[in-house]
Amino acid sequence: MSDNIKYLLEEDKIPKTWYNISADLPKPLAPPLHPGTHKPVGPDDLAPLFPMALIGQEVSQEREIEIPGPVREIYKQWRPSPLFRARKLEKNLDTPAKIYYKYEGVSPTGSHKPNTAVAQAFYNKEEGTKKITTETGAGQWGSSLALACSIFKIELDVYMVRVSFDQKPYRKMIMQTYGAKCIASPSNETNTGKAILKKDPNNTGSLGIAISEAIEIAAQSETTKYSLGSVLNHVLMHQTVVGNESIIQMEMAGDYPDILIGCTGGGSNFAGLIFPFLGKKFREKKEVKVIACEPKSCPSLTKGKYAYDFGDTGNLTPLVKMHTLGSSFMPPATHSGGLRYHGMAPMVSHLKDIGAIEAKAFGQKECFEAGVKFANVEGIVPAPEATHAVKGAIDAALECKKNGKPKTILFNLCGHGHFDMQAYGDYFDNKLAEDDYNESAVNKALENLPKIA
Ligand SMILES: *Cc1c(COP(=O)(O)O)cnc(C)c1O
Repeated sequence: MSDNIKYLLEEDKIPKTWYNISADLPKPLAPPLHPGTHKPVGPDDLAPLFPMALIGQEVSQEREIEIPGPVREIYKQWRPSPLFRARKLEKNLDTPAKIYYKYEGVSPTGSHKPNTAVAQAFYNKEEGTKKITTETGAGQWGSSLALACSIFKIELDVYMVRVSFDQKPYRKMIMQTYGAKCIASPSNETNTGKAILKKDPNNTGSLGIAISEAIEIAAQSETTKYSLGSVLNHVLMHQTVVGNESIIQMEMAGDYPDILIGCTGGGSNFAGLIFPFLGKKFREKKEVKVIACEPKSCPSLTKGKYAYDFGDTGNLTPLVKMHTLGSSFMPPATHSGGLRYHGMAPMVSHLKDIGAIEAKAFGQKECFEAGVKFANVEGIVPAPEATHAVKGAIDAALECKKNGKPKTILFNLCGHGHFDMQAYGDYFDNKLAEDDYNESAVNKALENLPKIA
């Protein structure tokens, strides 16, 4: 839009490194534990599932990790992504705040996910992986990994949460276009899936179930590996290319954010924008307020328990300490598929626990309302997940108006909503369900948390 100033970096200024926040944490992260022995897991435990390079990154303490040349070359197709000043939104809100947003919808699949998909496919190819299995919610991750696997010529099976498989056929077709196989989860291809379908043939699936299915298949072959689109340390780190670029772009704008905002499903787009700025806070005492925005119906950070839990429903993963609603909790079927996960990245959970970030939960309707307002002033239709960040940014800007403080706000617009227009349609037709946070279901799921001595 004409009123927006784009802060575009030159192509050769794409950051050469990812940022690893482990190097700067004031207090170290609690280690992942083996589900049987409850001892910290070692590289050997993870080797059947991930290439060694990614396992190394998962536990690395090095601050800067080089982005491999071939990955940077692929990044150049859509990176650096633009950072905009939302002048029309500021005017519409009549706020003294300055609002900036980093736009990740310019990638081929329309979200931030290819930032890690390309990196993960690269390291898998290097180590001889022939096939990858993964899960996907609304399909953003499945389509992004399908893109990456088509570039590196790796076979891909995607277990897609049933409710999205039925509701969102277009992302499934994108995966097929890139040559991947997309399977509705729970499926009859795995023991986990069969057991669930036997009890409940109409089960609509969850990310936790789909993860179990993908892991089960990957564990059966040495040349098949598993890939996760969020939550893990190395995934969050690959996303920091977003924040590293933003630091340079904010400098070009002659500004620095007072408030950073992102939406959180597993935590990766949020971490990608925020971690490099938090690193500056930890090292240089550059103050910044950080707000994670999540759905009221799946509020792991605001209502979950900070405890060791499984990452999946079938209880195949290591135990990780995180904000969790319980691994057997089934989030209700909302349109923000990417935010329907029972847990939260251990790294993001840790930062919440030590008070480095805050969290807010929003309802579906208020988020779509914010998304529609944003589209009308800024021209971009946000992904349903991203409307949570838009809502968070608008609220922060209105608070500046109320107390007369002209803060600088930067949020991550992590994807566009072009494949999610049914969600907007349901909003316009007033068909969106109320946000039912099912406290008793959560309490029941929390009763099953593993007991750690
Ligand atoms: C996957 C996805 C999310 C949720 O995942 P995070 O790891 O929390 O970022 C949010 N927004 C979009 C557009 C997504 O594709």
